[in-house]
Amino acid sequence: MGESLLTPARPPFPRMGGVLHCGPLALDDLVEEHGTPLYVYDGDRALERLRTLREAFAEAAPGPPAPGPLATRSAAPGLLVAYSVKANPNLALLRLFARAGAGADIVSGGELYCALSAGFPPGRIVFAGVGKTRDEMRYGLETGIRSFHVESAQELEALAEVAAELGRPAPLAIRVNPDVDSPTHEFTRTGHAAAKFGVSPDVALLLYARAREHPLLHPVGVDVHIGSQLREGGPFLRALDTMLALAGRVGSELGIDLQYADLGGGFGIADAEAGELDVRALGREVASRLRGRALGLIIEPGRFLVGDAGVLVTRVLYLKRSGGKTFVVTDAGMTELIRPSHYGGVHEVTPVREDGHGGVEVVDVVGPVCEQGDFLARERRLPLPSPGALLCVHQAGAYGFTMASNYNSRPRPAEVLVHDGRAALVRRRERYSDLIRGELG
Ligand SMILES: *Cc1c(COP(=O)(O)O)cnc(C)c1O
Repeated sequence: MGESLLTPARPPFPRMGGVLHCGPLALDDLVEEHGTPLYVYDGDRALERLRTLREAFAEAAPGPPAPGPLATRSAAPGLLVAYSVKANPNLALLRLFARAGAGADIVSGGELYCALSAGFPPGRIVFAGVGKTRDEMRYGLETGIRSFHVESAQELEALAEVAAELGRPAPLAIRVNPDVDSPTHEFTRTGHAAAKFGVSPDVALLLYARAREHPLLHPVGVDVHIGSQLREGGPFLRALDTMLALAGRVGSELGIDLQYADLGGGFGIADAEAGELDVRALGREVASRLRGRALGLIIEPGRFLVGDAGVLVTRVLYLKRSGGKTFVVTDAGMTELIRPSHYGGVHEVTPVREDGHGGVEVVDVVGPVCEQGDFLARERRLPLPSPGALLCVHQAGAYGFTMASNYNSRPRPAEVLVHDGRAALVRRRERYSDLIRGELG
């Protein structure tokens, strides 16, 4: 509260004159021009969130990150905020982050392509994922990314082979599974021992030893990513302690000085259920643990940067009362935003325009897709909207469009980015012809 360093909180998508806005622009005006369903992103909010994290973690790893790729041992520690591209790979958003000096955390060759297309310098790109193919490794090595985050012994051998084939050194960090449980949805818990991600600290030590023997494998860091939408600092700190203990052993037993610890992403945001992670408090705790160590810090936020910087605007088609329930049927559903049905995500849903009619009722907001699991919100108190009204589904900037599908042969929606007071259509709405593009029948 009141810390002068930090940008004052500004609620994204404020209501002005009864209408939700993105920056200075009314959402219903944007819909007028671009139709529904429509994703709207507030680029200024996304950049503000980047600043918030930089400020929160500034003390933990002072100074900018060393220029990469980090094949040398002499690089100075620093802080790299690597945006997790999978949260929202829209190119216009990526460009904003690239220009703001962020790095990119990628999990596929396709994301490497997007990150490079958006202008991220390869030296600020780190590559995670349990199933990197040799082709993806080649692509990463050829473009000179900062580091591969290796998740298994076999993957390390594959990386060694590809590095030898290309005659290029492979900077790497081992992704450790710290076996911390994190109170979040089963599908987004990645840091407990039974998850498919990372290796135990003991196995990690063996992999560092193996890497040391190989002339082209260059261990530069240690990495975790324990889950998503975490609202408490404890699991992060336990994971950090595991990494620091491991880095200590890697130094004392193997003589390898690692350059960075990567705390992963997962910083939780506020939604209809609860508030957000206190990143400032976490940053202070991380700083106290890193003090006096020559270790840089990477963090890989996805949702924290873009989650509440994006909304999905949808039009009410019908109201339907049956089985003692009231259904609000909208023109967006699980094809546009799958989080409610896949992860139990609880997005705030509010009318775009407060018109003062319609008493508040408990409703289910459901989509048009032929699945009973197709809903945007359940058992939610909402001023009963009229058909034709617009609803805003909040916190839809992360894992929204990127998980959209063409199921039920539904064209995917348009995306608009508002930045510096102007709106730009950054992806056009798909047409029916897009649905059969690529078919060879
Ligand atoms: C998905 C992912 C992230 C980002 O997670 P958020 O919850 O969006 O912050 C970071 N690192 C890795 C390795 C990931 O897979």
